[in-house]
Amino acid sequence: MSSPTLDRVLDAVFRVDGQFRIKFISDQGQRWLGQAGPAVLGANFFDLLHPTDAERLTHACAEKPDDFSCDLRMFRGDADCWVNLRAYRLAAVDQYVLCVIDISPWRTDDSAYRHAAEHDELTGLANRTYFKNAVEARLRSGGEVFSVALLDLDGFKKVNDTFGHSMGDAVLVETSRRLSRIVGGDDLLARLGGDEFVLLMVGKDAAMANAMVKSVLMAIARPYDTAPHNAYLGVSIGIAQFPIHGTDYSTLLKNADTAMYHSKNAGKNRVSIFAADDISVDFSIRAAIHNGIHEGEFYLEYQPQYDVQRRLVGVEALMRWTSRDFGRVAPDKFIPVVEDAGLMPFLGKWALRYACHQLKVFHQRMPDFVMSVNVSPVQFDADGFDRHVLDAIVETGVDPAKVVLEITESTLMRSQDRTERALATLRESGIRFSIDDFGTGFSSLAYLTRLPVSSIKIDKAFVRAIEEQRLTSATDKRLVTAMINLAHSIDLKVVAEGVETEAQFDFLRQSGCNLIQGYLLGKPMSAAAIGQLLDRHLEAAL
Ligand code: C2E
Ligand code: CA
Ligand code: CA
Repeated sequence: MSSPTLDRVLDAVFRVDGQFRIKFISDQGQRWLGQAGPAVLGANFFDLLHPTDAERLTHACAEKPDDFSCDLRMFRGDADCWVNLRAYRLAAVDQYVLCVIDISPWRTDDSAYRHAAEHDELTGLANRTYFKNAVEARLRSGGEVFSVALLDLDGFKKVNDTFGHSMGDAVLVETSRRLSRIVGGDDLLARLGGDEFVLLMVGKDAAMANAMVKSVLMAIARPYDTAPHNAYLGVSIGIAQFPIHGTDYSTLLKNADTAMYHSKNAGKNRVSIFAADDISVDFSIRAAIHNGIHEGEFYLEYQPQYDVQRRLVGVEALMRWTSRDFGRVAPDKFIPVVEDAGLMPFLGKWALRYACHQLKVFHQRMPDFVMSVNVSPVQFDADGFDRHVLDAIVETGVDPAKVVLEITESTLMRSQDRTERALATLRESGIRFSIDDFGTGFSSLAYLTRLPVSSIKIDKAFVRAIEEQRLTSATDKRLVTAMINLAHSIDLKVVAEGVETEAQFDFLRQSGCNLIQGYLLGKPMSAAAIGQLLDRHLEAAL
């Protein structure tokens, strides 16, 4: 599948000021320019142009100052070559991003037209038509296994909405550059449109494809500095494999798309492989969830949290669903579907009110008791989340200082204005936040110090790794200790979840962990069972 035109992306990216003085040139651009590369910084872009073509640039710019494109000749070493140049104005700073594609190979014959029909104008990548033809050629050529991965940027819309389309385009161009670095050999990368890219991986089954696109997650997570404002993005990826997930183009693409949505719903910035029963299960679960909400099939259980002296100090509310049709369904299974169906704000609001009512009851026995409630990232995206929380507090009359909202790192990574405002409003009212599953995402210290968080919950994967007997556990333990020290250094409390053994408990206590939650001390249970635990606790304290 490798033809010289296929791997083409941008040959150079420049950022210039209003007078076209060069402020930035991409690494690839420096290589492309050859010897002159490093020296062009500070030079004028017009000096790189063939004198007779400078006029073309001036003309195109005057005609459409915000975003223009033209073909012209640029000096490259001793020779000149034809390039296609696209320019985007960054109005706020009066600068331009210039994207250059070397088109000399096609300039001479009619392959230039073919190139245009088969390539995406913005990024120079193969387009949808080309990709479809390539996959269909594969299908015709016989039985070799291959995988298709669909990539959809997370957070791209925000960049586009906040900084404008020209910046959005610059980000897409930079994304295509990062992706093409990773894609190798026979693989084909194409842009389907918008912020959707697709990869054809020849000779790779879904598991191999999965391993390969993991590096894509890392590549996209790096800040985007093509633009003067650094932007952070993620990418949700879905994989479908020929022949097990489809034997024609549209089925393969549709199934990769379903898997991609799975990634989005599971919290974004991850890879999912299509599962053949996804569609039907999701569909019927969705209907059952609608029904279950009306029939009152959802309820909460409460898992006790203890301090290291084994005093009961609070609980985490965990959602449960016993469906008439499916029986008991695990939250990991139904919550993504609830989110996808747009029902999470509704169900989440219910859980919160319910938990607050229950907390009020617990407070009759122990006024300091703390209730932690999970909040999914999509709840923050919904209108008026903060108001709903405050309503629940006012309605039940509980002390907001006794309510902890467990949020995930992906909620913080989104860092939407709305999310930040909601966090701030709620924090002001006295509610506290805890980072759930800490260590599994991308949180940086910067996020933790900037946002109103009061504790972290070390993910159970790390707790599980603390085992006396294992040799490797020395490193795992150091990691846990480091997390605890780090959190304490910025005044955050630490909760460990998934604590199942005395050895884990002892280690965590000695490392200074503040609260312990796990099967060792108590499984999730009904409110009545927590009430009994509280009674026993109070008796023992007398
Ligand atoms: P999570 O917030 O990380 O919740 C902790 C999960 O670990 C719970 O699973 C709990 O039952 C389980 N767990 C507790 N102790 C142990 C232990 O010692 N060992 C092991 N192996 N597991 C333990 P659960 O109840 O299945 O919940 C799964 C996830 O579903 C939760 O993970 C949370 O992300 C989500 N979830 C549950 N309730 C809600 C809710 O009301 N709202 C939202 N948005 N998400 C919820
Ligand atoms: Ca939690
Ligand atoms: Ca957790």
